[in-house]
Amino acid sequence: MRLEAHAKINLSLDIVGKREDGYHLLEMVMQEIELHDVVEIDKADKGITLSCNKEYIPCNAKNTAYKAAAMMIERCGINGGVRISIEKNIPVAAGLAGGSTDAAAVIRGMNEVYALGLSQEEMMGLGLKVGADVPYCLVGGTALCSGIGEIVKPLKSFSGIDVLLVKPAFGVSTKDAYMGFEIDKVKRHVSTRRLISAMERRDLDAVAYNMRNLLENVTLRKHPILKTIKESLSEHDAIGTLMSGSGPTVYGIFKNAEDAGRAEGFFKDKYREVILTKTR
Ligand code: ATP
Repeated sequence: MRLEAHAKINLSLDIVGKREDGYHLLEMVMQEIELHDVVEIDKADKGITLSCNKEYIPCNAKNTAYKAAAMMIERCGINGGVRISIEKNIPVAAGLAGGSTDAAAVIRGMNEVYALGLSQEEMMGLGLKVGADVPYCLVGGTALCSGIGEIVKPLKSFSGIDVLLVKPAFGVSTKDAYMGFEIDKVKRHVSTRRLISAMERRDLDAVAYNMRNLLENVTLRKHPILKTIKESLSEHDAIGTLMSGSGPTVYGIFKNAEDAGRAEGFFKDKYREVILTKTR
């Protein structure tokens, strides 16, 4: 069975508190994009075999797809195995939920190939055991995610907006980004309601004005090149720019495909991964 595993961008990321176990409490507007990995899932007699077209992705128990498969076999009492192959198109350690979306695809795929009959809610509960972004990846589209990301409220679709992703040659560890964050130093939180209302009206200027990610300063301080990328995106007609998740991917949203295409032309030889896509 062949599944598309789509990436996401954050239109916002607000940190509103901390749980007793140290996890941050978040409020994020998440948006699925056209960019996707392709995950092929087939039944096998036993065990989990994993292959990937990119040699730098671990094809062992460290892979989120492997973790999802092992968890499904154990939790759902599956008497059999699975063969998984991943065509990786989503930049890695980029803030685009690449690992989480592969895990979500494995859960959906195993639910089908083993005819488990799990509801979306049941799959989301299982997905949370693999990672906090997996429940959102199972729902996709436009959504407000809260808790540690696992409470997913679908929003009116914000599809079809032109987006240019720019990721420099380094990755960022999600854990490090959160560790560098100090909640007491936050002067202004995200106006999530205003952002959602602007998205509902498809008022791109108001969306751009309200797009905000509280982790952006942490990562920008460490990697000033990201500030340069944001400024260049604005100079090349992006209406709004933001870092996605814990970074380092920075993206711009554009009024139309022509503007986005021109910006792509400027960026594509300068940075490691430059991808023109759309919200989905
Ligand atoms: P998020 O936005 O959810 O924080 P991310 O895009 O920042 O995700 P990932 O692409 O999920 O980060 O990768 C983070 C790390 O996980 C990398 O070091 C990578 O080697 C490892 N990894 C394990 N499984 C996968 C997978 N299926 N796809 C990508 N990376 C994976």
